[in-house]
Amino acid sequence: MAKQTASLYNPGETEIVPRLNRKTTPVPVVSRWERRWVDIRVKFTFLLTALQCYRSPLKAIATIRKLLQFRQAMNGRKEIRRCIKAGGKYYFSVYIPGYPSALFNRYIRTELNYITPHKQPVNRLQVLQLAITNRCPLKCEHCFEWNNLNREEIFSTEQLVQLVKKFSAEGCAQFHLTGGEPMVKLARLTEIISQAGLLHEFYILSSGLNITEENALRLKEAGATGVIISLDHFDPVLHNLFRGSAQAYNHVVAAISNARRAGLVTALSLCATRSFITQANLWSYANLARKLGVCFVQVLEPKAVGHYQDQPVVLTAAETALLEKFYLEINFNHNCRDYPVFLYHGYHQRRLGCLSGGERILYIDSAGHIDACPFCQTKSYEAAAVISGRLLIKDIKIGGCPAYKKP
Ligand code: SF4
Repeated sequence: MAKQTASLYNPGETEIVPRLNRKTTPVPVVSRWERRWVDIRVKFTFLLTALQCYRSPLKAIATIRKLLQFRQAMNGRKEIRRCIKAGGKYYFSVYIPGYPSALFNRYIRTELNYITPHKQPVNRLQVLQLAITNRCPLKCEHCFEWNNLNREEIFSTEQLVQLVKKFSAEGCAQFHLTGGEPMVKLARLTEIISQAGLLHEFYILSSGLNITEENALRLKEAGATGVIISLDHFDPVLHNLFRGSAQAYNHVVAAISNARRAGLVTALSLCATRSFITQANLWSYANLARKLGVCFVQVLEPKAVGHYQDQPVVLTAAETALLEKFYLEINFNHNCRDYPVFLYHGYHQRRLGCLSGGERILYIDSAGHIDACPFCQTKSYEAAAVISGRLLIKDIKIGGCPAYKKP
């Protein structure tokens, strides 16, 4: 079923927007008791891993304590946050490998190493965010890649495969493949993912464009773990206006449904703008996310880069306070247990500093620059130098996030 509605994107015209099925697609959140059982198992994995790393029970326990305190400070509460079950694994975030897995164990080893260094192999990065193309047919209001879009491509598929293999050899738990719009280069995407084998998790960050049933299956078969789809408003017309495309909302709804059917982990990404942030809007968005049955929702803050350059988009203290209140409520209130898990980086960034900035997470943009993150476009190195061997990954040092310093 679809309805016609006045277009804000093209004034004077109408748009066809799909009506969502009234039936809610259940979010695959695990029950409270299963979550407690998973928590015991995860803590046991922590203990075994720490014992292997330190060979001293006292040192192992002391480091695990600190790691748990760090995680609690990040999440905001001592209680256990909800988690998702998909394909026989448990997912706590789109930035943490599924449990149980060898990838998860190595991820933990790496986190332990940040607290108390040890000599076991660790990842150089937990996540590499890699723009695989600068092509994109959309015109999003907040696009941080705006100045790079639709130019001559910097890298060939072979070069990108080489880049991924080099980061893989140094240890990298996850690759988040972005653009431009990565789904306009499906063959390139599947080639990169399948060439890297099953040693990593791959997420595709997309507007939802071109994630048809068949393409979602192709991504899954290549070895992708999940998709993170941008949805910036629960109102189809306002989302389309934000994205500069009359079909943007339809693509999101279809992408989530097709990705779910293909067995991919699903997430929505919201750029929470100043005009969007009200309690009512956040709950309407959460209700839509629940209806779509997505596993996670990532809330990003607008930054004055790219298409937003020099614009007064940065959130006020009152707006971030409202986001934080909502974040804690939806994740920890037992009555919200059937909602997706919400991730809000601003919460921990303001308390613990940023986890990106080249330490755990690094960004390679669609012009081939190596940046602290998509928003802090430091252009610190060139990815071409990594591909040619002139720059070793171990020598990439960005020096942390320029925006959120560690306390
Ligand atoms: S934000 Fe993404 S989808 Fe939107 S214009 Fe930029 S690259 Fe394209």
